[in-house]
Amino acid sequence: MHPAHLGVAVLSLSFAGFVKLWRGRRIADGRAIQRTRKALHASEDRLRLAADAANLGVFEWNAQTDETLWENQRIYEIFGRTLEMGPVSMAELAARWLHPDDVQGFEESLSWATRPGRVWQFLCRIMRSDRNVRWLEYSGRFGLDPCGEPIRLLGVVLDVTERQSVSERLERSESQLRLITDAIPAYIAYVDTNLRYVFINRTYQEAFGKPLDEIVGHSAAEVLGESYAGPKPYLKAALAGLEGRFETRMATVQGERILSVVHIPDRDSRGRVRGIVIQGHDITERKLTEEALRTSEKLAVVGRLAASIAHEINNPLESVTNLLFLARSSQELGEVQEYLDTAERELRRVSVIANQTLRFHKQSTNRVEVTCDDLIESVLAIHQGKILNSRVKVEVRMRASQPVMCFAGEIRQVLNNLIGNAIDAMHPGGGRLLIRSRNGCDWRTGQSGLMVTVADTGTGMDPETAQKIFAPFFTTKGIGGTGLGLWVSQEIVERHRGDLRVRSSRRPGRNGTAFTLFLPHEMV
Ligand code: ADP
Ligand code: MG
Repeated sequence: MHPAHLGVAVLSLSFAGFVKLWRGRRIADGRAIQRTRKALHASEDRLRLAADAANLGVFEWNAQTDETLWENQRIYEIFGRTLEMGPVSMAELAARWLHPDDVQGFEESLSWATRPGRVWQFLCRIMRSDRNVRWLEYSGRFGLDPCGEPIRLLGVVLDVTERQSVSERLERSESQLRLITDAIPAYIAYVDTNLRYVFINRTYQEAFGKPLDEIVGHSAAEVLGESYAGPKPYLKAALAGLEGRFETRMATVQGERILSVVHIPDRDSRGRVRGIVIQGHDITERKLTEEALRTSEKLAVVGRLAASIAHEINNPLESVTNLLFLARSSQELGEVQEYLDTAERELRRVSVIANQTLRFHKQSTNRVEVTCDDLIESVLAIHQGKILNSRVKVEVRMRASQPVMCFAGEIRQVLNNLIGNAIDAMHPGGGRLLIRSRNGCDWRTGQSGLMVTVADTGTGMDPETAQKIFAPFFTTKGIGGTGLGLWVSQEIVERHRGDLRVRSSRRPGRNGTAFTLFLPHEMV
């Protein structure tokens, strides 16, 4: 039994009765007490010994006269007093010893305990004359006179300062943890090895709009419902000791949110996983912004495309107009025929461009089978004018004939940007644009696919630049660039479960950049 509970078990009217109960005997009335008075003295001594062993101070208080008796040595020690100094009466205790915050509770609890059948229990702080603050746990019971008036309180007191300071520290650190985690606008939780919530912060709780006790103690499967499918494999992996990072969707009372989540296994001193720390950030807004950016970049690409197409078409149309003018003003039939032949060739070129452009746009919503030749040809057609203007020599070497399944419009957009960037890098000095294709294999998955390399002999990039090129808005072209081309390209390639890599050098004579695109033959 906990020493403090000894006091609760004291259910007697007097110290002597306490002794009787302590010994487990039942003595019904006063006369019986008289008869056994002698034996009692001996048991009183034994009780003192037992109380001493349990570190309990024993006292008796006359509620009417405030006369207070201290029954053993221990209570003097608790109060830091000598026998000569004598006991501290209860009135004095309340007036001078108790912590001011505890006085009211002390008096109220005492008056509450005067009703028959009630046990008094009270935890309080005292300030001893040596300025030492102690935590005391009082328990006792009132003896009542025949009219039901409380006469004497027999009680015990235990010094619980050590226990209290440990639990106080624990409480303080728990409340600090709660304050800190509640202030963080992230989802924070801790689950045990049965995947039951042990702790959640306010954000987590608010997401579910449920009281704490409907989450804490319940399993993640139960609380998350359908949203459990996302984190489930990662939770299992964390139980096996693996840290997990992933994005998932969670149904909350504020609607569906997209979270970036980290699971960290918590291990005991022997390295065994005893729980999982869960931390999630709401990235819904970021995702929406990125989506909007992608859409706007796609629009920008369409705009640029339209400009190049207009340019491409304008040149031959201009020459057709000139040729028709020449033909009309010429008198010689042979010459007229020649002008008209040239005009027809130019018009065919216009028609080719128009056809390519149509194909370019038709295939963006459905997966289709296309060959690499088809992809490259249509993209190069758009850049024809620019290629000539910037004195770029194009070398194409196609070795892959097997078609790929893809969103052809999107892949054209990727190649369009790679080729556009290559031409930009060689402007205005010119250079060589090398486009090669071959069948290849993804070393990570072993999947077969198409490898396309777009290489140039342009400026090249320093390692610092090369590191940043896939970030949104990174551009070295000032207002001439958006810095979104490669960022969007990377997303498209990832969606195709492909890969886009870059090698670049600025060494004079070997300067240039090569992008290699891998596309699996079959999209999964
Ligand atoms: P933008 O073309 O609008 O600048 P991109 O995302 O397409 O945006 O490219 C980002 C940056 O990467 C470019 O500004 C350029 O600095 C660099 N870059 C891309 N391709 C090449 C290349 N072939 N040669 C040199 N630098 C390149
Ligand atoms: Mg670009």
